[in-house]
Amino acid sequence: MTKDKQNLFGLNQQALTELFATLGEKPYRVKQLMQWIYKYHEFDFDKMLNLSKKLRQQLKDTTCIELPKVAKQDHALDGVIKWVIDTGADNFIETVYIPSDDRGTLCISSQVGCSLACTFCSTGMQGFNRNLSTAEIIGQVMLANHYLKDKDKRISNVVFMGMGEPLLNEKAVYPACDLLLDDLAFGLSRRKVTISTSGVVPALLRMAERVPVSLAVSLHAPDDTLRNELVPINQKYPIQELLSACKVYLNAGTQERHILFEYVMLNGVNDSVAQAKKLVTLLKGMSAKVNLIPFNPFPKTQYITSKKVTIASFQDVLFDNGIRTTTRRTRGEEVDAACGQLAGKIIDKTKRIKVTI
Ligand code: SAH
Ligand code: SF4
Repeated sequence: MTKDKQNLFGLNQQALTELFATLGEKPYRVKQLMQWIYKYHEFDFDKMLNLSKKLRQQLKDTTCIELPKVAKQDHALDGVIKWVIDTGADNFIETVYIPSDDRGTLCISSQVGCSLACTFCSTGMQGFNRNLSTAEIIGQVMLANHYLKDKDKRISNVVFMGMGEPLLNEKAVYPACDLLLDDLAFGLSRRKVTISTSGVVPALLRMAERVPVSLAVSLHAPDDTLRNELVPINQKYPIQELLSACKVYLNAGTQERHILFEYVMLNGVNDSVAQAKKLVTLLKGMSAKVNLIPFNPFPKTQYITSKKVTIASFQDVLFDNGIRTTTRRTRGEEVDAACGQLAGKIIDKTKRIKVTI
């Protein structure tokens, strides 16, 4: 980002309105500016001719509109696109576009690395460097939008399933959600924006009230002993506490809510029929769907992916007990863009600790 200038991708409508109030400008000017940025992708203040010359100069002096710096862009044969973004100080994050017949999903990162050290996750194994700013989060969506817009492709869904734990970066993630939902910016419906969390309970309770987006919870194990090992934050917020917070989320807000429980399939670790039955007991009666994710391997991992037949038997148990279950198709493998393979390159590994909060 241009030094000392505020990147406007970092401001939601409310923050822009506050900024404009300090400049003595009326709120409708905010709408004009947001149209230039998000509808017309115009980043040059001089071309925003319905804004006064004085305002354009003030904006030029103190703010900027800057896309993230792309270090590399990879295309997989199945249409998946991966952007490697240079976040400075020799650190990188990744953003992935996953097209399918009826949608285009953008998987975005919320942190440079992750401190939670889940044992099956490449990002977690790399350590943590820093939180991304709202501008860096929205910048990923703008970057992809900008690239896709002349190619007749679009982003219909945004998921916080890239690098990092979004609920450990609430300050930047919530204003980013505001912009994703705002008709003057991306205008996505609340069902098309998903925060995925490994279970940061206090933040989950705040999120339930603050942003009406969809929730995915990375469960991965049906009991505390195994989950403590796979998802170490479980030592701090065990399964029952997490599920109570999930119920608060389901009952908050005015519209009907559901939760997607993610469950990575690790051969011989969490994929038995007995474990599927335990999972049924945990989720019975909840407005929940389960997504089984075949483990995506990465160098030096101790795990292997469950066999197809094992995944099918696991899924059958859930189905037979009335739990809607899908198995995720792995996409973008040859460019290392699949879930949990996003590693970037994290320089500062000092903050890789077991449970940080
Ligand atoms: N930190 C958040 C969001 C990012 S991870 C979270 O944990 O939910 C997005 C999803 O990818 C999570 O469900 C995570 O558990 C899963 N994942 C991580 N590593 C994986 C791997 N190697 N194979 C398959 N899924 C993985
Ligand atoms: Fe962090 Fe999510 Fe990876 Fe766990 S699975 S280490 S919370 S990014």
